[in-house]
Amino acid sequence: MDLFEYQGKQFFAHYGMPVSPGQVAFTVDEAVVAAEELGTPVMVKAQVHTGGRGKAGGVKFAADIDAVREHATKILGLDINGHLVKRVWIEKASDIAEEYYASFTLDRSAKKHLGMLSKEGGVEIETVAEENPDAIAKIWVDPVVGLDEATTRAWVAAANLPDAAVEGAVDTLQKLYSAYTEGDCDLVEINPLILTPEGKVHVLDAKVTLDGNSTFRHEDYTQFDETQPRDDREQAAHAKGLQYVGLDGSVGVIANGAGLAMSTVDVVNQVGGSPANFLDIGGGANADVMAGAMEVINNDPNVKSIFINIFGGITRGEEVANGILEAMQRVEIDSPIVIRLDGTNAEEGRAILAPNLSDRLMMEETMLDAARKAVELAS
Ligand code: GDP
Ligand code: MG
Repeated sequence: MDLFEYQGKQFFAHYGMPVSPGQVAFTVDEAVVAAEELGTPVMVKAQVHTGGRGKAGGVKFAADIDAVREHATKILGLDINGHLVKRVWIEKASDIAEEYYASFTLDRSAKKHLGMLSKEGGVEIETVAEENPDAIAKIWVDPVVGLDEATTRAWVAAANLPDAAVEGAVDTLQKLYSAYTEGDCDLVEINPLILTPEGKVHVLDAKVTLDGNSTFRHEDYTQFDETQPRDDREQAAHAKGLQYVGLDGSVGVIANGAGLAMSTVDVVNQVGGSPANFLDIGGGANADVMAGAMEVINNDPNVKSIFINIFGGITRGEEVANGILEAMQRVEIDSPIVIRLDGTNAEEGRAILAPNLSDRLMMEETMLDAARKAVELAS
């Protein structure tokens, strides 16, 4: 679950990190009121779930109210990497002496948290990693041991931060680690973390990804769920209670079980096609669920063929077969369907489908053959 910058900053502030006062605004008038209340100069910042806003013209300095009006007018409605700007964050402007980079994320292979700190902030960390990898000081933190002050201090020293920034950086990084672990984050990133001319370390940007599986521990995270961008297909699928993720290919995928659905997406790619979605219809593939799934897939204009991949476990083959036929009565499907049915009572299921096969409804023995057929039909 990705947070907007302003949500990330509020999240950081909760852990005592130094962020600037600001207000979120949905209209130009709201932006002006916010700037009046905060007092100029302010920054006008596009709130979208993507980075590189500065480069795209989504982060502007406003010396006075007229400039706030002008920038807010331009930024609201701007398209940044395919993300439409619907809200801006008006924040008291800071003076910058230096820009640093700091982050924590999980290093799965090391089974530790990875902290990265660099003197070269403000630019994309990927660029620093490529052009000047020595400028990134990394630490691996054992989650059981945690991050103590001495280790943090050594890390800051390794990054060669100037003396003026050391105390502020140590303090902020320890709080960042607390926010990251106690807040159940997948990623926290500050770019830039700045040193002001007065010698204060301050958080100027915030990128926070929360672990969506931790929401049961954090009641207040539901407010973030509501602001997650979902495409129309995903919204429709979620409304039907389906586990659906939109992709940009042309083979619609329906499978039972998340593991099989992922393998199905893989096998479509393997034979040279591209899946339009991931869709797991779960255990009971009855007609209702199947009809709902087919409807969602059918409404995707990019879909050219549908690959239904079912391995009966608790779900029995004849149930699935009847479900598919009934669903086809209910929903008029535009694309040809290829079915692979295996597992419990697969024979019975195939026997039910057999008399109904046509060039709109095909059956293949294996998952690979079915994928090939579906991809061929989509191209
Ligand atoms: P991003 O482009 O999406 O990473 O957005 P940022 O929030 O990082 O802003 C981009 C750049 O704008 C920063 O790297 C800073 O150089 C600059 N910037 C952001 N806030 C301020 C501010 O308060 N004062 C000044 N002078 N520059 C700022
Ligand atoms: Mg940034």
